[in-house]
Amino acid sequence: MTTKVYDAIVIGAGSVGVPAAFFMAQAGLKPLVIDQFASPGQGSNKAAIGGIRATHSAPSKIRLCLKSIDVFSTWQEVYGDDIEWHRGGYSFVAYRERDERVLKELLRIQQSYGLDIRWLGRDDFLEVLPDLNPGGLIGGTYSPGDGSASPLLSCHAFYSQARERGAEFRFRERVTGIIRRRGKVVGVRTDKGGYATETVVNAAGPWARAVARMVGLDVLVAPDSHEAGITEPVARFLEPMVVDIRPAKGSKNYYFYQHKPGPIVFCITPDPPIVGTDRRETSVFLPMIARRMVDLMPKLANVKVRRTWRGLYPMTPDGFPIVGRARELEGYIHAVGMCGQGYMLGPGVGALLTRMVRGDTTPEDAEILEELSPYREFGGEEKLK
Ligand SMILES: Cc1cc2nc3c(=O)[nH]c(=O)nc-3n(C[C@H](O)[C@H](O)[C@H](O)COP(=O)(O)OP(=O)(O)OC[C@H]3O[C@@H](n4cnc5c(N)ncnc54)[C@H](O)[C@@H]3O)c2cc1C
Repeated sequence: MTTKVYDAIVIGAGSVGVPAAFFMAQAGLKPLVIDQFASPGQGSNKAAIGGIRATHSAPSKIRLCLKSIDVFSTWQEVYGDDIEWHRGGYSFVAYRERDERVLKELLRIQQSYGLDIRWLGRDDFLEVLPDLNPGGLIGGTYSPGDGSASPLLSCHAFYSQARERGAEFRFRERVTGIIRRRGKVVGVRTDKGGYATETVVNAAGPWARAVARMVGLDVLVAPDSHEAGITEPVARFLEPMVVDIRPAKGSKNYYFYQHKPGPIVFCITPDPPIVGTDRRETSVFLPMIARRMVDLMPKLANVKVRRTWRGLYPMTPDGFPIVGRARELEGYIHAVGMCGQGYMLGPGVGALLTRMVRGDTTPEDAEILEELSPYREFGGEEKLK
C-alpha cells in the first residue's frame, strides 16, 4: 500500500468517474481514479451517441443535466478543448394520438420545472424538421436548449484537465477489494497494489454490482446492451435529436441526430432487452433501425452507414440512477445505475460527488440525493428511459 492518502478513490474512469475527478481536482482535492481498461472512457462512455438533454420528468435528473449542459456548452470557451458541442435541441415525434397524449402529459411536468420545451403542431414541427415523413404526422415536442457533444472528446478533455489539476489516474488496473477498518473505508486493493483513502466512489458503470459486492453491499444495477451506428458525414440538414417512441417488432424507441462534423449517429432500444455484458454487434440491428429511420425520414436512404457498435446501459429497476452514501459503511459512495443517460448526467453527478466529498452539499443536493437514494423503494418507473 502506498503511503499517500487520497481524498477520494474513484472506481471507474467513465462518463461519471472522469468528470468527477475533474471537479474534485478543481476544488483542490486529490483524487485517484482506477480503471481496468487501457485509457479513459473505454467502458460504456465510448458507446454513447452523445445526446445531452435536461428535458427529463424528475427534478433530480433535470437539475443534474442543467448543470451538465452548462459544462458541455461552455467547455471550449472556458477550457479551450473542442468537444463538438452543438445545441441542436431534442424533438419527440408523434404519429399516434397516444404518443401525443404521453408527450403532452410529460410536457406539463417539464414546463412546470421551467424547462424550455414546447408542443409544435404538424406544420410548425415540419419547419424544425423539414425532412420528416409528413404522412400521419400529428406534431411533437421541441426543446431547443438541449444538444450533443462527442463522448470521446469530452471524456478526454475532462481527463487531461483533471490531470493538469493534480488528479491521478491508474489504467489497466482492476479493483479487487475495498479495505475497511471498524466500519470505515480505509483503502482500495487492486491487482497491482493498494491505495489509502477514507472515501471510495463506486462509478463502475455496468460492473457496479460486482464492486458493491466487494463490501457486502447489493446495488441493483444490471447491464443490458444497446446498439448504435454512425454514417458518413454529410452537409447539415438536421438540427435536433429525433426520438420516435413508437414500438415496433424487436424494438422500442430509437433516436438519431446529426453530429457536429456531419455524420448521423443513431441508436435503438431492443425489445425484449438483451441482458448481459456481451458487446459483439448483431446482424439484426442495422436492417431493423435503417428501415425505421428511412420510413421516418426518407432522405436518409441516401446516406451510407460507416460503422455500428454495441454497448451497455447500466440499468436500475426504475430507470433512475443510484447516488448516495452507504449507511452500512462509512466512506463508501454509490454513483451508479446511470441507465441510458450517464453521459449527459456525468458532469452534473461529478460536481455533486465533489460537494459530497468536501461535505458542502446544498439543500438542492439533499433533494436530488433523496430522489436517487440507494434506499428508495424502486417501485416507480422513469417515463423516458
Ligand atoms: C448505444 C448506446 C448509446 C448511448 N447513448 C447515450 C446518449 O446519447 N446520452 C447519454 O447520456 N448516455 C448514453 N448512453 C448511456 C451511457 O453510455 C452510460 O449511461 C454511461 O456511459 C455510464 O457511465 P458510467 O460512468 O456509469 O460507466 P462507464 O462509462 O462504463 O464507466 C465505468 C468504468 O468502470 C470501470 N470498472 C468497472 N469495474 C472496475 C473494476 N473492478 N476495476 C477497475 N475499473 C472498473 C470500467 O472499466 C469502466 O471504464 C448510451 C449507451 C449506449 C450503449
